[in-house]
Amino acid sequence: MNIAHIGDAILTQKAQNVTNVVDVDTQALIDKMFATMSEEKGVGLAAPQVNVSQRIAIIDTDGEKFVLINPEITHRSENLVLFTEGCLSVPDKELPIIRHKEITVQYIDRNNKSCTLKAQEFLAVVCQHEIDHLDGILMTDRFEQQQPLRQTLNINEKV
Ligand SMILES: [Zn+2]
Repeated sequence: MNIAHIGDAILTQKAQNVTNVVDVDTQALIDKMFATMSEEKGVGLAAPQVNVSQRIAIIDTDGEKFVLINPEITHRSENLVLFTEGCLSVPDKELPIIRHKEITVQYIDRNNKSCTLKAQEFLAVVCQHEIDHLDGILMTDRFEQQQPLRQTLNINEKV
């Protein structure tokens, strides 16, 4: 699948909830997303990044695979973490982004089962990055928003 890039309108739109998870088209989309993510050597991919405005994000960190459908972050730790992020939709750019260190995500998996994921550190960062895509938010938006926070936390902006 083709990857949407920064500047494409679909990346700024709030994606729609998935209503029929077990639908063959939804299942085929998830498989194609995994193939695309693997080709592009990503650890996460959200459907808007492949030009589909639906609330589906996939993650593969060290072989631990997740399909997050209609995900909602239900808890965010006060503890924050700074991580240098990349994005397939923002080629050749890495930015230091502040995220919650631990989050809880409620979502539906590809078998239409309700699931709860308690994620920490890198997995939590990837979840937050991908769920941002479903809300039309790119890491470049976060980077700009977080300028005052970086100053408050006295984080060196240079990367
Ligand atoms: Zn991204």
